[in-house]
Amino acid sequence: MSAGKILAVLFKGGEYNTPKLLGSAENALGLKKFIQEHNRSIFSTSDKGPEIDDYIKEAEVIISTPFNPVYISKERIDSAKNLKLLITAGVGSDHVDLDHINKSGRDISVLEVTGSNTTSVAEHVVLTILSLVKNFIPAHQNAMEGGWDIAKISRDAYDLEGKVVGTIGAGRIGYKVLERLYPFKTKELLYYDYQPLSEELRSKVDARRVDSIEELVAQSDIVTINAPLHAGTKSLVNKELLSKFKPGALLVNTARGAICNAQDVADAVKSGQLRGYGGDVWYPQPAPKDHPWRTLSNQYGDGNAMTPHVSGANLDAQARYALGVKNILQSYFSGKFDYRPQDVILLHGQYATKAYGSDKEVVDVN
Ligand code: NAD
Repeated sequence: MSAGKILAVLFKGGEYNTPKLLGSAENALGLKKFIQEHNRSIFSTSDKGPEIDDYIKEAEVIISTPFNPVYISKERIDSAKNLKLLITAGVGSDHVDLDHINKSGRDISVLEVTGSNTTSVAEHVVLTILSLVKNFIPAHQNAMEGGWDIAKISRDAYDLEGKVVGTIGAGRIGYKVLERLYPFKTKELLYYDYQPLSEELRSKVDARRVDSIEELVAQSDIVTINAPLHAGTKSLVNKELLSKFKPGALLVNTARGAICNAQDVADAVKSGQLRGYGGDVWYPQPAPKDHPWRTLSNQYGDGNAMTPHVSGANLDAQARYALGVKNILQSYFSGKFDYRPQDVILLHGQYATKAYGSDKEVVDVN
C-alpha cells in the first residue's frame, strides 16, 4: 500500500453475513464503490494481529470499530507515516492511543460517529438493569430446561420501582439512560459527571448530581457506567471502590471493560458485595475463554447478564454509523475538513472534546 490507501478493520460476517450487515469486514460499511470513486483503494479485513502491520504502515486512513477493536498503539502510530485520519465506526476511540497522537505533534485527526448508537446502548442498559433486578436470565433458563422453580427465581428477584439508580457519566448515553429510567418511578436518579447537565436537561429527568463517584456508589442500588475509557477511568471500579458500594448493589457496564478490574468485580459478585454484574464490554476483545466474567456468578449461581459487545452494533446502529463514516470521508476527501463538531475527538492532533478526561486542553471546532 502507498499513500491514498484506506484500511478498514471490522468484524467478521463469515457464515452469518447478510447484505444488511453493513458493519462486517466483507461489506465494508457499503463504502467500497464510494471510496473507489474518490480514487482511493480500500482493504477491509477482520484480522487485527501483526498480519495487518504492513497495511497500517502505508495507510492514509484507518477505519476501525469498538466491536472488534484493532489496538492502534504508540508503535503502530509511529510506523504509520502516511496516516492522516482515524475513523471509529461507532462511538468510543479508546482503542487508539489518543494521548500519544496528541503529544507527538502529528497532523492526525481522530473522529467517531457520535450519537450513532447511543439509543441502542441506552436501551441495552435498561434491558440489562431489568434482567438483573428481575432475575430474568435464570428464569428463562429454568423454563428452557423444563423447570418450574418459582422459589429458585423469586428468592432473588425485585422491582425497579423504588430503587436508587446512579450513572457514572451523563453524556449522550448516560442521559438517555436517565430519560428511559424516569418513567419507572425509581426512588431517585443520581449522576456523577465533571461536566454538569444543564438545569433544563437535569430537571426533565429529576436527577440529582453528586460530588463524587464514591458518593454515587454509596447511595445507589444500581450503578451504570456511561463514561469513556481514558487515564482517569481505567480500572476505576476496583476492590477499593467496590467496598464503598451498597452491599448487594447491581453494576451495569456498557462503556468499556477496562473501566472495571475484571477479577475484583467477579470477586465482589461471588462475595455478595455485588448481587450481579452485566454489560457487553470486556478487555481485551474478543474476551479470552477464561475471562472471569464468562463464569462470574453470585451465591445462587446467578447474577451474570454479560453479552459479547453487541449493544451498539444492531442493524439500526450499523446503518447510522456506516452513513456517518461516509460523511466523515466525504469531508476529508473534499479537503474542507468540515466535520460535524461532535464527531471530532482529535483535530490535527489536538483534543476537541472534554469527554476523554477533565485534564485535556481542548480546541474549539465549532
Ligand atoms: P459522551 O461523550 O456523550 O459522554 C461521556 C460523558 O462521560 C461525558 O459527559 C464526560 O464528561 C463523562 N465522563 C468522562 N470521564 C468521566 C469520569 N471520570 N467520571 C464521570 N463522568 C465522566 O459519550 P457517549 O456517547 O455517552 O458514550 C460514552 C461511552 O460509552 C463511549 O466513550 C464508549 O466508551 C461507550 N460506548 C459503548 C458502546 C457499546 O456498544 N457498548 C457504544 C457506544 C459508546
